[in-house]
Amino acid sequence: MNKSDIVIVGGGIVGLATAHQLLKQQPELSVTVLEKESAVARHQTGHNSGVLHSGIYYKPGSRKALLATSGRSAMVEFCQTHNIAHDVCGKVIVATQDLDLPRLDVLEERAAANGVSARRIDVGELKEMEPNAAGIAGLHVPAAGITDYGEVCRAMATAIGDMGGTVRTGTRVTSIKEGSTVRIETTNGDFEADLVVTCGGLHSDRLALQTAPDTPERIMPFRGEYFELAPHRRHLVNNLIYPVPDPDFPFLGVHLTRMIDGSIHAGPNAVLALAREGYTWGDIDLKDLSEVLRNPGWWRLARNYWKTGMGEYYRSLSKKAFVKALQRLVPAVQVEDLVASPAGVRAQAVSREGSLLDDFVWSETARVVNVLNAPSPAATASLAIGDAIVERLADHQ
Ligand SMILES: Cc1cc2nc3c(=O)[nH]c(=O)nc-3n(C[C@H](O)[C@H](O)[C@H](O)COP(=O)(O)OP(=O)(O)OC[C@H]3O[C@@H](n4cnc5c(N)ncnc54)[C@H](O)[C@@H]3O)c2cc1C
Repeated sequence: MNKSDIVIVGGGIVGLATAHQLLKQQPELSVTVLEKESAVARHQTGHNSGVLHSGIYYKPGSRKALLATSGRSAMVEFCQTHNIAHDVCGKVIVATQDLDLPRLDVLEERAAANGVSARRIDVGELKEMEPNAAGIAGLHVPAAGITDYGEVCRAMATAIGDMGGTVRTGTRVTSIKEGSTVRIETTNGDFEADLVVTCGGLHSDRLALQTAPDTPERIMPFRGEYFELAPHRRHLVNNLIYPVPDPDFPFLGVHLTRMIDGSIHAGPNAVLALAREGYTWGDIDLKDLSEVLRNPGWWRLARNYWKTGMGEYYRSLSKKAFVKALQRLVPAVQVEDLVASPAGVRAQAVSREGSLLDDFVWSETARVVNVLNAPSPAATASLAIGDAIVERLADHQ
């Protein structure tokens, strides 16, 4: 039996950031991170857009709004300290139709409420920043940037080791039992801890159900597919070009993003994945799929939003339709400019009533904190989320 003060399940950025912040504040603790894959950051964290979000979009006062802004600064500092390539290059949010203008006003107000600097720009300024972007107005957000969250996680794992913690990869947690301590069974030996934090991303509900069987949230996997601009067309985009989000679906809407390696990614869309780790249409897991289809929340979601969903499927199956969505932002992009790029799968928590949970969510039992919803911008906000979880653990220590 391996004994630690605190075991953290999940070697994505939320689990690693939590372990990192815990050891930074309480170096005397023994902390072990358990990750089922052979390396850290193999799921959401290693398949995202790499954007350092500014915190502009989120409902003022929400965890997302509070933790994205403080988390972004902490992440930039982490990148500086650990020599991780990053660039606070700023982004433009582009209004392409009249309907977008009042939404841009709302965003500007939100930015002010969240303490994020954002400036309205006219077409002339937009053209100076992004000569190939179309638009009738825009919002410039200087605090947004880019990094490589896989690199960030590898640096976090090294720092955790340097502070005396352990990151055990190739260790799948199969059972968590809470008593006077917590016993964790894995494919790589059994563990015991005073406290446990689960940060299981696409499996977070299953991990939570081990110690909190009444947990109502369920994870639905939504694949986000990307294309990349062919190298000779990278000049079409300088930094980050985003559409004005639909307030009902703030996570939808393909954007163009410069990655830290210089490539330009276009996407992601959002389609129901046929497996929790379903990165392609061919990845099908009947257990995962039947869980979604037996969930009344899914049917309510499908009934209410089928039109939006069909649009996303259309863009998934037709490259032409995907390009059409991009051309609204950058008209010069053509079908032949795009090459397919690996997809990511979002872990989206859905309530029993079928609503998509927007904010970060965690729940607690006496000895376990379960992170149930950590969607975008959780990579940006991870160090601040880690601090918030460390604060929760303090009540149980
Ligand atoms: C397509 C896409 C684009 C995104 N773009 C951005 C962006 O630009 N900026 C941003 O800030 N955020 C972005 N996000 C969101 C961000 O990537 C996630 O919010 C963040 O990575 C969540 O981290 P996590 O640690 O919770 O989950 P994950 O990275 O999924 O990690 C969970 C880990 O738990 C492990 N695990 C699960 N079950 C077990 C078990 N039983 N035993 C042991 N280990 C287990 C998994 O193997 C995995 O490594 C994006 C997400 C996606 C999918």
